Amino acid sequence: MVVGNADALPLIRLCGIRKQYGGKNGEPAVEVLHGIDLEIYAGEFVALVGSSGSGKSTLMHILGCLDRPSLGTYHFAGRDIASLNADQLAWLRREAFGFVFQGYHLIPTLDILHNVQVPALYAGTPARERQAQAMRLLNRLGLGNRAGYRPNQLSGGQQQRASIARALINGGHVILADEPTGALDSRSGAEVMALLRELADTGHTIILITHDLQVASQARRVVRISDGWIVDDTAQDTESGRRLDPISDNVSIPAITAPSLDAHAFMTRMIQGVSHNASWLVDASEALSSAWYTLWVNRFRTVLTLLGIVIGVASMIVLTAVGQATSEKALRQMETFGGVHRMSIWGSIDSTTGIQGSISHADIGQVQSVRNIRLTSPFLTAGGVLLRAGNVVLAANVWSVNAQALEIFNWKVARGIFFTEEDENNLATVAVLGKRTKEHLFGPETDAVGQYILINQVPFRVIGELTEIGTDSGNNSDDDMVVLPFSTGSRRVAGVINPAGIQLLIESLDTIDQTVQDITATLQEARGVNDFRIANNPGRIKEQQEAERDQALLLALIASISLVVGGIGVMNIMLMAVKERTREIGIRMATGARQRDIQRQFVAESIMVSLVGGVVGVVIGLLIGVALIVWDVPVIFSIRAMLLAFSCAVATGLIFGLMPARQAARLDPVVALARE
Ligand code: ADP
Repeated sequence: MVVGNADALPLIRLCGIRKQYGGKNGEPAVEVLHGIDLEIYAGEFVALVGSSGSGKSTLMHILGCLDRPSLGTYHFAGRDIASLNADQLAWLRREAFGFVFQGYHLIPTLDILHNVQVPALYAGTPARERQAQAMRLLNRLGLGNRAGYRPNQLSGGQQQRASIARALINGGHVILADEPTGALDSRSGAEVMALLRELADTGHTIILITHDLQVASQARRVVRISDGWIVDDTAQDTESGRRLDPISDNVSIPAITAPSLDAHAFMTRMIQGVSHNASWLVDASEALSSAWYTLWVNRFRTVLTLLGIVIGVASMIVLTAVGQATSEKALRQMETFGGVHRMSIWGSIDSTTGIQGSISHADIGQVQSVRNIRLTSPFLTAGGVLLRAGNVVLAANVWSVNAQALEIFNWKVARGIFFTEEDENNLATVAVLGKRTKEHLFGPETDAVGQYILINQVPFRVIGELTEIGTDSGNNSDDDMVVLPFSTGSRRVAGVINPAGIQLLIESLDTIDQTVQDITATLQEARGVNDFRIANNPGRIKEQQEAERDQALLLALIASISLVVGGIGVMNIMLMAVKERTREIGIRMATGARQRDIQRQFVAESIMVSLVGGVVGVVIGLLIGVALIVWDVPVIFSIRAMLLAFSCAVATGLIFGLMPARQAARLDPVVALARE
């Protein structure tokens, strides 16, 4: 036993530590450590020696807080480890310990410079400071010119030195080295041992595990373990290898040179809080940039993962753009034909009497009283009527309507005015010309307003000229007409009194079905027979709108299915990544990552995948849309649809990435480290 300073608090104190494996699911329980009592003071250089299978690694895992004992107590700097939560243990691992493993345990995808920085990253050290520190350590360990190399580009000795640099970056107060020379040739092994001795001389506590007595002889104290028991614990003179007698050789714990090694001060720091100082923003950006790096390193796989998301987002954008354009086109066609709110009533054959009904002026009055009806006009057309203006003769359609028709048909007056109710009452011989009629009679440039035309030999004064109407069918017949007040047109041109039908404008589309029912009921009651029909244009439009809504819903459904499929792809790949990178997770935990750091890292990776997938998807969606425009397919891009698709993608990544991330975070450090 080394004689301890009576006042000093041992840094490490194990009492009756036992460790059992198995015992679950019917397996026999095997006890590997049978009751270890051990005290280690700050600044000691201790070798734990024993043959293979004697329990040294098990003991080291317990010492490094990677594993918990089955029985017994472990006090670190006076604090019972059993009382610490997962975050405090993670803090202890990154602030107190530095691990050096036989197999180096460097993260294969990171270069040496970044490997060394990992514990500082979890300690929240700012990137610049961390990098400078890592570089300093690498220079000191002779690896300055290898900073950008990946572990597999370095020799075993160089990798081991890099892992020592990593152990030192947060201070490395207690270096736990498990067979550090086991995989090295003798020269590299000697170099590593010289390095450890140097560290011991500068005040670091070194706990070295080895089966090699030669290696153990370099420590100041040797603890022998055999079959889970401590069988010997001696101080030795490292120069001569002679065993020292604790009393006569006056062995004492070395002077503590590094002030932070003071156990009290150390634990005070822990009490002050184990969370690091970096803001969540820094954490998030670190996680995203590290995610970007990892995804870039595995880019082929990343592209495969992206594909699902890209297809989902692009199809959502293209489908909605095409769908919207198609429906807009249909709607516009209907609107040209007289507005979505226009409907008409015509005489028809009554099914019981077989008599053809005709519309009368009284019916208009009846219809006018129905709720939701805004405007009404009698309607009568006569085709092929001869018009004459000067020497020009033209066969045209004559429409007889009232003053409200201007609004009902959504006509615009290009020149002059439309006729009024007064003209209607006075049987005024005034006419409003359709665009083509006017052009045929007077030419495109001349102003026709104020001129006279003859209709059926009756002179009519032109008072207005309509703008182009256009039709859905492609022939311009609606511009080929002349509009007259109903009273004049019906009597003096058509020679009848009654209209052929009623044109009306409704207030609101929502109650259209009710309005149709009301008109039917009113007319039926007034006429006693069902000899009329209602051309329900608004009803058709409403149906079309509803069909479009269903179609939009269907499109959204298809797109969301492809996003879900993409999300499952992300989850699948992330689960695989967790499996594949279990060792890396173990290394990160051993170097101080908390569960939430691991979780954040994996969530960041899946969000990054979906973020990139979302951006690429939007770009491809836009490109396809542009290609469609070139091919004359109508397309309307909607920023809302794009944002929706993009945020769906990111949400998909988040939701489907969470499960694998949790799985990673819950891994047991020792189990994770042991995984090949
Ligand atoms: P050493 O490091 O001295 O070679 P270990 O501590 O690795 O010894 O192992 C001690 C004993 O415990 C060995 O017999 C080993 O098989 C057993 N052991 C180690 N880890 C486990 C485990 N996770 N489950 C079951 N047995 C284990």
